[in-house]
Amino acid sequence: MPELRKDPITGRWVIISTDRAKRPTDFSRDQVKMKGGFCPFCYGNESKTPPEVLAFRPGKSASSPPSNSPGWTVRVVPNKFPALGIEGGLNRQGEGMFDKTNGVGAHEVIIETPDHNATLATLPEKRIQDVLWAMRDRILDLRQDKRFKYILLFKNHGEPAGASLEHTHSQLIALPILPKQVSEELEGAKQYYTYKERCVFCDIIRQELADGIRVVDENQDFLTLSPYAPRFPFETWILPKRHESAFENSPAHIYENLAKAVKELLMRADQVLENPNYNLVVHSSPLQEPINDHYHWHIEFMPRLTKTAGFEWGTGFYINPTPPEEAAKFLREAEVSVGRSR
Ligand SMILES: [Zn+2]
Ligand SMILES: [Zn+2]
Repeated sequence: MPELRKDPITGRWVIISTDRAKRPTDFSRDQVKMKGGFCPFCYGNESKTPPEVLAFRPGKSASSPPSNSPGWTVRVVPNKFPALGIEGGLNRQGEGMFDKTNGVGAHEVIIETPDHNATLATLPEKRIQDVLWAMRDRILDLRQDKRFKYILLFKNHGEPAGASLEHTHSQLIALPILPKQVSEELEGAKQYYTYKERCVFCDIIRQELADGIRVVDENQDFLTLSPYAPRFPFETWILPKRHESAFENSPAHIYENLAKAVKELLMRADQVLENPNYNLVVHSSPLQEPINDHYHWHIEFMPRLTKTAGFEWGTGFYINPTPPEEAAKFLREAEVSVGRSR
């Protein structure tokens, strides 16, 4: 019997079609492929990207003048084809009943490593930590710009997931408005808090740790789980165990365990789903309310295993052929040895 399940945060319903239950091997094998060719993100091609806004070069401080030359471990540059432009005011105006505003925003690319053949999953934990620090540094800088209301960090891995360059990278977009999906999640979390005086994410963490059936992995600071009502097969979330509203406000000591949690999840997914294409998104509080009791930042990982079709577009309902309890079990039982070899 298929099951309708409701996400406790957004109130969004999903269909878990248990009778068509899919195991990892049932999905078409659409693996990430490397095509080669010229790459602007490799060493020596620094002049082929817009000038860097941040780079970590061992032995130099992050605030050293930009050198746009090799020697970096992480490099952040403006997107060459930005979705939004950094210059100018918002100039909100109406066109009769319609609203518009200038497309003001920042669109940056975080080049995670100089190694063209690496992936975020294969990078050493220390390097993943650097990527996370670079993201944090960029948010701390951009949030001073009062035109911005929200900063989204995301990663497209593989062409079907939207990556136009194969060299591993993440992106950051600062927006002058609050995205609809984010405000839905925020609203839901706020309502739950008003009703129960507890953070819905903290409650999820408590219950999932007690149940255990949807837990993929945990360390001292982070819990990795399959959510109760996932939209996509093998959708997985990483949540900080201690309540924190904004990614960039996390205490410095947790970045080590965050890097570990991210690497561990990606390695598990690579093993169980054979190097899937995926999207990874960081959900964090709006810039104007970075500290609050109701919203709890987290990472959402969504491998691209199924296609969004008419029913989904028409209803906002998702049909998920893999119950999260089974997805969690596959991921949990994958044999990876992160941090154990150190
Ligand atoms: Zn490259
Ligand atoms: Zn919380």
